[in-house]
Amino acid sequence: MNRSLVNELVTLFYPHACVVCGAELLNNEEGVCLKCLYQLPRTHNYLERENGAEQLMAARIPFERIATYCIYSKEGMLGPLIHHLKYHGRWEIGLLLGRLFGRDMLGSDFLNPIDWIVPVPLHPRREKERGYNQAEMIARGLSEATSLPVSTGNLVRVIFNPTQTKRTKTQRWENVKGIFEVVDGALYEGKHLLLVDDVITTGSTIEACGLALQACKEVTISVATLGQVL
Ligand SMILES: [Zn+2]
Repeated sequence: MNRSLVNELVTLFYPHACVVCGAELLNNEEGVCLKCLYQLPRTHNYLERENGAEQLMAARIPFERIATYCIYSKEGMLGPLIHHLKYHGRWEIGLLLGRLFGRDMLGSDFLNPIDWIVPVPLHPRREKERGYNQAEMIARGLSEATSLPVSTGNLVRVIFNPTQTKRTKTQRWENVKGIFEVVDGALYEGKHLLLVDDVITTGSTIEACGLALQACKEVTISVATLGQVL
């Protein structure tokens, strides 16, 4: 058995074990141990104009800024964290990483102009299955650290779409077009929104949200995610 499978089993049977390294957690640790948290491969790219994430989305939607907290790879440290956050009911990992990300960016030019934090919504059916929206957990963590308000229920996912893993880039784009809508455009009029998701993969989900949000008058949109798949 490889190491990640062993860790997976350990965390299934011992919820008080670190989801990254399997070490037993101390009372003040949630989901992941402090030693692993210190080793997270943070990008600090909220300080960097035209960073990799901004380049990926350039010429698609005019996002103001994009920040990705950590480098993401399945074998890396963020992989197991995202996996547990999304598929093993470990919503507290979203809160924790959101809080840490928020603390890092506190007082920065990236965060200062933001009016609302807007998590990428799940379709209500998916959210019911999972019990929570992982992007909202990250958004709530960011909000705890920054005191910026979270807006949910105004950007909504109107079309349920199945998993995208086996589609080509063009198919993915066709697949996400028009799946999000804004309920009350006036709420976001003239506001700077921080769109929050777990990971940027092709960017098509973020792009589809951006398209829906752009319908609001004089809106500015920035993006923050925990990771970017390179
Ligand atoms: Zn650990």
